Amino acid sequence: MAEEILSAQDLDANEGQIPREDWFEASATLQNLRKNKKFPTIWCSGCGIGVVMGSLIRAIESLGLENDQVALVAGIGCTARMPVYMDYNTLHTTHGRALAFATGLKIARPEMKVIAIMGDGDALAIGGNHFIHAARRNIGITALVVNNAIYGMTGGQHSPTTPLDMRATTAPYGNVEPPFPICDLGAAAGATYVARSTVYHPLELDKYLAQAISNEGFSLVEAVSYCHTTFGRINKLGTAADMMRALKENSISKSAYDRLGADERGANTKIVRGVLHTKNRPEYTKVYGTLVDRVSDEAIQPRHYGGN
Ligand code: SF4
Ligand code: MG
Repeated sequence: MAEEILSAQDLDANEGQIPREDWFEASATLQNLRKNKKFPTIWCSGCGIGVVMGSLIRAIESLGLENDQVALVAGIGCTARMPVYMDYNTLHTTHGRALAFATGLKIARPEMKVIAIMGDGDALAIGGNHFIHAARRNIGITALVVNNAIYGMTGGQHSPTTPLDMRATTAPYGNVEPPFPICDLGAAAGATYVARSTVYHPLELDKYLAQAISNEGFSLVEAVSYCHTTFGRINKLGTAADMMRALKENSISKSAYDRLGADERGANTKIVRGVLHTKNRPEYTKVYGTLVDRVSDEAIQPRHYGGN
């Protein structure tokens, strides 16, 4: 098909194209990918995860951070492959433990911008406890959760965010478990910055990720995506493009949502996109550092055990 279009326009396939060997120099996004990795990625063509990767790179770029000031930590799953392709400090860990490793890293190197990159199953099932406790501590980590409502890599099992009645390989007659609302959960557990957008809206993701990384405490960005290969196929939701379009049609900005009447808001089933929650609260490594300083000072004071 591509050749037909090109020949109809009387264009050479390479005309106007940047030579492959110059791709990395031509794009800020590509410059921050690992040049020693094989591309294309392992992701299915049309998957939304690559959109989120582009947003994350642009967000880091927009903050003027050096690559060595940033650490990306991931567990297991399609989304967790993201740091493998990115030219920052990276840590590829075990399933569900991205936030546990990220917590240790942040405590050891509090000056670093630590970003935990997780899918919905990774963050909220296997890693669910780490998620709520990292939020409770308000540790200065950005949790980026790519929510495609399914375990993609392992074959389409239902996850903690699979909507009611939708099918999965482990819910062939429809899911009967209510999904976790990721952003509500993060805000209730103590996150101090919470935002959500979709892979149809990458410029919003760029902005929210930059704000999340700039926030001193625990930040959560939910990037709503899709998995056309497993979830889409079993639920007959069409192609990747159809699922991308559905994110446009089934989402609403927070400012538009806020203008709805109370009844309309109550009946809303669309994904609300925007900054959903912020709060000022002491960040964990700062509090911990103060404690270490105090205990260290006390340790060098002479101790008095009573008597003369
Ligand atoms: Fe994306 Fe699903 Fe393919 Fe994983 S299995 S790369 S989530 S489309
Ligand atoms: Mg998933």
